[in-house]
Amino acid sequence: MRNDRNVADVSELLRVGSGVDLGAIDPAGTPGLPDRKAVRRDPKGWARAELVMLGEELARQQEMLFASAKVNPADQRRVLLVLQAMDCGGKDGTVKKVAGTMNPEGLRITAFGPPTAEERRHDFLWRIRRALPLPGYLGIFNRSHYEDVLVVRVRELASPRVWKPRYEMINTFERELVDSGFSLVKVMLHISYDEQRRRLLERLRDPTKYWKYNPDDVDNRAYWPAYQQAYQDVLRRCGTDHAPWHVVPADRKWYRDWAVAHLILDALKRLDLSYPPAAFDPKSETKRLEREETGSASKMNGR
Ligand code: AMP
Ligand code: MG
Repeated sequence: MRNDRNVADVSELLRVGSGVDLGAIDPAGTPGLPDRKAVRRDPKGWARAELVMLGEELARQQEMLFASAKVNPADQRRVLLVLQAMDCGGKDGTVKKVAGTMNPEGLRITAFGPPTAEERRHDFLWRIRRALPLPGYLGIFNRSHYEDVLVVRVRELASPRVWKPRYEMINTFERELVDSGFSLVKVMLHISYDEQRRRLLERLRDPTKYWKYNPDDVDNRAYWPAYQQAYQDVLRRCGTDHAPWHVVPADRKWYRDWAVAHLILDALKRLDLSYPPAAFDPKSETKRLEREETGSASKMNGR
């Protein structure tokens, strides 16, 4: 990535801790974007071009992760991207643009909506556990177990007696995941109230976007401050050393994609992956194949 900023720097910049003040983070900000003339002139063009390069590296890293687990069943490593955001926050776009750079075979993407009747019969982590990526895979959660302390809390779908203990339950669950080979990349896409309005209007103006529009999103806007508070509590209470939260300013889609690509790449690079060595002797295999070819050629020629 030239010599601007490396991926670890960007994820460090976006990482938040127990003292985070969400209201102080500018949703239109572009933390970590290099301060160079070429970037300032056309930040969007620059970031889009950079995403292509980041995407190639993401694809390579993800292939190495997949290959490592395939040749070594003892290798339990996998990566899980947890995407959370307000409605219109850009979760779907991020999946399309960032996950879209990688081989679909190695991805496991799950979107979580309101729990089904069956899911409601189990504890809130039941459906989450069922959707976890196997070793070698990159999992992506489009919404997640965090909805159970976000929408559930704000829209009073359960009593505080039910949702309050969940922060600790989530921390214990994520500890378990990390101990069994998961790298967690938790991302809140942070949009502004005004940007959400613009995006909702866009959906209403464009018939090809009606399917994304949900009248309930407008009702949800009335709960904006309560949601911001609930998000802040999530960031403060579930941002742990082993599974930190990142807040990605998301009013600018090009910045959002660039930043999330950095976060995933950083997690993959920390695994120090490589292509697995051959469990066979490539030279003697080549010879064997050559011998076999002359053999079958003569067979096919009826000799
Ligand atoms: P979307 O992401 O636009 O497809 O919408 C999914 C909807 O499912 C959102 O309104 C979420 O708030 C809702 N949802 C996701 N998880 C839960 C949950 N655990 N309980 C209730 N609603 C949920
Ligand atoms: Mg929606």
